[in-house]
Amino acid sequence: MQAMGHFDLESRKGKAPGGYNYPLDETVVVFIKMNATTTLNDMVTLLHEGGHAIHFFLVMDLIMRDFKHFTPEAAELASMSIELLTMEHWDVFFDHEKDQKGPRNSTWRKSLVRWPG
Ligand SMILES: [Zn+2]
Repeated sequence: MQAMGHFDLESRKGKAPGGYNYPLDETVVVFIKMNATTTLNDMVTLLHEGGHAIHFFLVMDLIMRDFKHFTPEAAELASMSIELLTMEHWDVFFDHEKDQKGPRNSTWRKSLVRWPG
């Protein structure tokens, strides 16, 4: 995706806030757009949207077109799983172990609240 120029990550004036993944079925292309500001939240957002992109790449060859579009719950399962699966490697962004506790707890809390609902 990086080589194809399908990341638009940097913040700039007039750019809409937030982050999202935008898959195109016909061309089998995925774009990720976000407003990075060099925070931990940027990393989590990129992981989350990357999870959506991986999900799309895994289903894009399915014959049944309807199987390529999933419910919000199924979509979030992929993206939030990537956040949780990568959590043990977040230490590369922190100088001290204690600094990771808050972001990790926040991600677990968000996952537990959002998944069932
Ligand atoms: Zn999502």
